[in-house]
Amino acid sequence: MHSYIPPERFFPYLTWQQVAALPDKANTLIIQPIGAVEQHGPHLPLIVDTAIATAVVGQALDKLDPSIPAYALPPLCYGKSNEHSGFAGTITLSAQTLTAVLMEMAESIYRAGLRKLVLVNGHGGQPQILEVLARDLRVKWPDFQVFPLFVWRAPHCAAQVVGSQEYEQGIHAGDVETSVMRSLLPNQVNMAKAVREFPVGFPPDSLLSLEGSLPMAWTMKDLSRSGVVGDATVATAAKGEAILASVSDGWAQVFQEIYAFEALRPS
Ligand SMILES: [Zn+2]
Repeated sequence: MHSYIPPERFFPYLTWQQVAALPDKANTLIIQPIGAVEQHGPHLPLIVDTAIATAVVGQALDKLDPSIPAYALPPLCYGKSNEHSGFAGTITLSAQTLTAVLMEMAESIYRAGLRKLVLVNGHGGQPQILEVLARDLRVKWPDFQVFPLFVWRAPHCAAQVVGSQEYEQGIHAGDVETSVMRSLLPNQVNMAKAVREFPVGFPPDSLLSLEGSLPMAWTMKDLSRSGVVGDATVATAAKGEAILASVSDGWAQVFQEIYAFEALRPS
């Protein structure tokens, strides 16, 4: 059941008595990987974002100092993916449902006396939702530290590995995700169907962007026929392995810093 998570770090392998007896509950990290089940082009399976979030958490926990108490929850496989709902197979929760599921999971973690919750999200369509609910949890329980984090915002080398242009423009099922999946689940990637596709008619030197500082709301049908935005044809397992190694190093560092972090105090 633990998939990429080291079994000794998999929270639901504990008994209730072990949870009740955790020695440093206020400073034990509880990590929730969050993904999606959504289309990723003709060559990748629906499970990409969940697989990547869970694998990165697992590899980072493998690298984390064993004396730091940290446990991963089972991944939340469903996310808010309605920008992909024009493609068969995408399963989406509403923003309200995703918020309710995570709020109630967090409430259960808090009730057990645990006070540091880390959300590690692999799907680009939902960081904003996690940020809003994390703030609501903080307001509700001032001694609860909640970190709403996106997997690709930890330090990593993906832009160097695939080139900065592909890194910025290949936002879905392109070189980064395809390479990582070739390394993680090679039998689930069909490179014979990999494509290179970018949005047509998007002004190249515009201040506006799909994501970033001055974005617009879009659905994947606005951008792509195949469901890919990026160049999946050049993906390799070796690139994926290098990206995974560096992003999991980054996450081991983030977990270490969250462990060391003490709550902000009014001056
Ligand atoms: Zn994805």
